[in-house]
Amino acid sequence: MNSTDSIVVINAGSSSIKFSLYDGAALELAMRGKIENLYAGVTRFVAQDAAGAVIDEHRWSGGAIDHAAGMRFLIDFAQSHLAGRRVVAVGHRIVHGGVDYSGPQLLDAGVLAQLDTLVPLAPLHLPHNLAPVRSMFAMAPQVPQVGCFDTAFHTGQPAAAQAFALPARITDLGIRRYGFHGLSYEYIAATLPQADPHLANAKVVAAHLGNGASMCAMRGGCSVASTMGFTAVDGLPMGTRCGALDPGVVLYLIEELGMDVAAVQKLLYQESGLLGVSGLSSDMRTLEQSGDPRAQAAIALLVYRIGRELGSLAAALGGLDALVFSGGIGENSTALRAAVCRDAAWLGVQLDAAANHRSGDGVRRVSTAGSRVPVWVVPANEELMIARHTLDILEQQ
Ligand code: ADP
Repeated sequence: MNSTDSIVVINAGSSSIKFSLYDGAALELAMRGKIENLYAGVTRFVAQDAAGAVIDEHRWSGGAIDHAAGMRFLIDFAQSHLAGRRVVAVGHRIVHGGVDYSGPQLLDAGVLAQLDTLVPLAPLHLPHNLAPVRSMFAMAPQVPQVGCFDTAFHTGQPAAAQAFALPARITDLGIRRYGFHGLSYEYIAATLPQADPHLANAKVVAAHLGNGASMCAMRGGCSVASTMGFTAVDGLPMGTRCGALDPGVVLYLIEELGMDVAAVQKLLYQESGLLGVSGLSSDMRTLEQSGDPRAQAAIALLVYRIGRELGSLAAALGGLDALVFSGGIGENSTALRAAVCRDAAWLGVQLDAAANHRSGDGVRRVSTAGSRVPVWVVPANEELMIARHTLDILEQQ
């Protein structure tokens, strides 16, 4: 890897493709961008340099485009904006690696075929993650591609943390807890000891709070338990997902309310969480600015559930040495952090009000000097984690 070599990271969701470009062995961020509104409305593209200045923008006025057309556009864009760089590998965020992929993986036709068999485990995400891989194989087959899985970080959890209390014949079908947001937690696990070396072997609970939200218990940088389970709808209430739910509710919706699978799926994934409870919005900023009591009730429910999960995860760890906030809400909402820490005082958490309000966008400690449990904000950076994994795999070849 020399200074003109670069790694591209692709994070493709159901309606967007995000990309980042990292230069040289130091993986210096050079460029990032996204195509939004695939399939619906007006598809938009924007690319920015490392400082955030816009390099290029585009709108598809003729209507929305699909993943393949989006990838074709990105490859053309890259070719005209690489400025002498050589893309040596592409790393992809892939939501599910099943039980077999416990780390990043060089992708080929065989691995893709195996990942196709996991689509029923993540039908809303996995096909969109794999579409750009196929586009790259078709359009630039000489460039190595690496898959980085959101589940991989959790594969070493104790058996009890991975199990549902279901008959073995069901568990054997792969119906178990996997956990997600693993690349975010892995990045936090790598970053925290740099900020405070005492935390290298610590019992840490991290909360990744974005549109999707989860929490993870880590001991010595390894995942011990997580709030997300078989799918990414479990655990905390999220922007539009309900989080943990008595399975009896699903049976009731079907039997008594006559809802079919599609209606239940829509309710639990798209109409619940902050949006469902508030009846107003899935967006935390909007709710915080609203004077409507339903907005406050939605936030209060999220805070309550974070507190419950924190106690549960601390129990799984047998203690708590640090609490970490990450994701759009965790990094930016001073009020949410204050409420969670207020409720976690019993665990030895003491927030520093001034530090909590101090603006900043880097890794920072927001607890008092005397707080038995330090509280940190670590901005999420799954993309850099993917770039590091991709470089590692490249160097092993
Ligand atoms: P995703 O999971 O889609 O990557 P993000 O991590 O970007 O989502 O988080 C989006 C959430 O972060 C939204 O609910 C948004 O309102 C919230 N958020 C962003 N900035 C702020 C802020 N300054 N205060 C409160 N919430 C914020």
